[in-house]
Amino acid sequence: MTANKPNKPRAKSTKSQSNTRKSKMLSKQPAAVKKAPPRVADVETKRKSNAELLARRNAAVPRGVASAAPFFAASADNAELWDVEGNRFIDFAGGIAVLNTGHRHAKVVAAAKAQEDLYTHTSFQVVPYEPYVALAEKLNALSPGDFAKKTLLVTTGAEAVENAVKIARAHTGRPGVIAFTGGYHGRTLLTLGMTGKVSPYKKDVGPFPSDIFRAPFPDARNGVTVQDALNALETLFLSDADPERVAAIILEPVLGEGGYLPVPAEMWQALRAICDKHGILLISDEIQAGFGRTGAWFAIEHSGVTPDLITVAKSMAGGYPIAGVIGRADVMDALAPGGLGGTYGGNPVACAAALAAIEAIESEGLLARSTALGDHMRVRFADMGARVAPYRMWDIRGIGAMLAVEFVSDFETAAPDAAFTKSIIAHALKRGLILLACGMHGNAVRIMVPLTASDAIIEEGLAIFEAALADAVAAEQQIAAE
Ligand code: PMP
Repeated sequence: MTANKPNKPRAKSTKSQSNTRKSKMLSKQPAAVKKAPPRVADVETKRKSNAELLARRNAAVPRGVASAAPFFAASADNAELWDVEGNRFIDFAGGIAVLNTGHRHAKVVAAAKAQEDLYTHTSFQVVPYEPYVALAEKLNALSPGDFAKKTLLVTTGAEAVENAVKIARAHTGRPGVIAFTGGYHGRTLLTLGMTGKVSPYKKDVGPFPSDIFRAPFPDARNGVTVQDALNALETLFLSDADPERVAAIILEPVLGEGGYLPVPAEMWQALRAICDKHGILLISDEIQAGFGRTGAWFAIEHSGVTPDLITVAKSMAGGYPIAGVIGRADVMDALAPGGLGGTYGGNPVACAAALAAIEAIESEGLLARSTALGDHMRVRFADMGARVAPYRMWDIRGIGAMLAVEFVSDFETAAPDAAFTKSIIAHALKRGLILLACGMHGNAVRIMVPLTASDAIIEEGLAIFEAALADAVAAEQQIAAE
């Protein structure tokens, strides 16, 4: 492992860059977040090596649960993480978009600890508690739509999506669900049926539930305009999905796993009109795009369209497992008592953490921070792409700090280059930066760095990204020369 040791001087790669736009530094830093000294877990963990833990992991955990990193976490703070051997990493993956408020945000941890001193579980269905109600009230108030709302709390994103479908079916009395190519909605069987990407998620585990239909995602760069997507939807209504039998249309406002592609506002507007015409419910899956990632609480707000239901999870609670469905009160009340829930749904510790994370996003100005961070990173990526890997960085896209860079083999063919993308990620990891890929072809790198990260950490991470990009180009040139 060649990642930075805790006190090792930082790589000087930024110095030699001729980035004239670098002066455009971020204007607004997040309010100071508690800085813990780097801790390397307890003595017990410290004695273990990554190799030893990896061998145990491979023997005890099924290979289907893949891990991007070959090292094991010992401690983490805001946008930094240390492994069990004391190597330091900058975290641009944020636990898959869960850490908009960073690892162990002081307010989130304090709220969770305070709740743990009172009670950790009663099951809301046995003895209710205020944190669940307070979080529901907060989500109802924050989400778009000036109508009465109610919120159901569950534990995972997939569970939220499953429940949104149940609620939509119960309310409309219809079975059908329309989802989109490249969409990701979870790994349970219903949500896998809705997820629009075969490998690796859907391989070998079908059949999937019936009455789920797929429409093309409007991706103009890949030849599907909004009009094309809408025409295909009309064809779907004629060929397979009777609109009078469709309960819901579900779409991520920015495709997450599918490649950080934003849905054009005209698409949302057209979908809203189609739903209103046929009595179909519109669901915005904000599990990855929500909670400030795009510079708004909910990414659909950028389109001005109000959905009937919203699914939430991930960064809502700064690292604690909780998810939810927010929606029109009359729709949310469709199921009879007992029809919704689950033993752990809306765990009180996670509710307390979520209330604190939401408060932190509000009080630390993290929505504005997302926009500034996104603007800054776009400039930096464009600059490093042109200088370090000409004709390879095909696209820089997303909204605010929900940003991805896409790589191709050349601009002429624009062939997706997953191998090059993998190489960048592997070199970044060796240099101490955690990155994750996304996209139908696995050829984009998504940036999910905490919005609470300091400017210095952002710059350090971007410098490592640039060095890893250079490494990947050099590795290719070496293979070509052999
Ligand atoms: N929907 C979206 C948009 C997601 O990004 C995810 C997770 N990546 C899910 C649903 C499923 O969430 P979970 O992994 O918590 O089940």
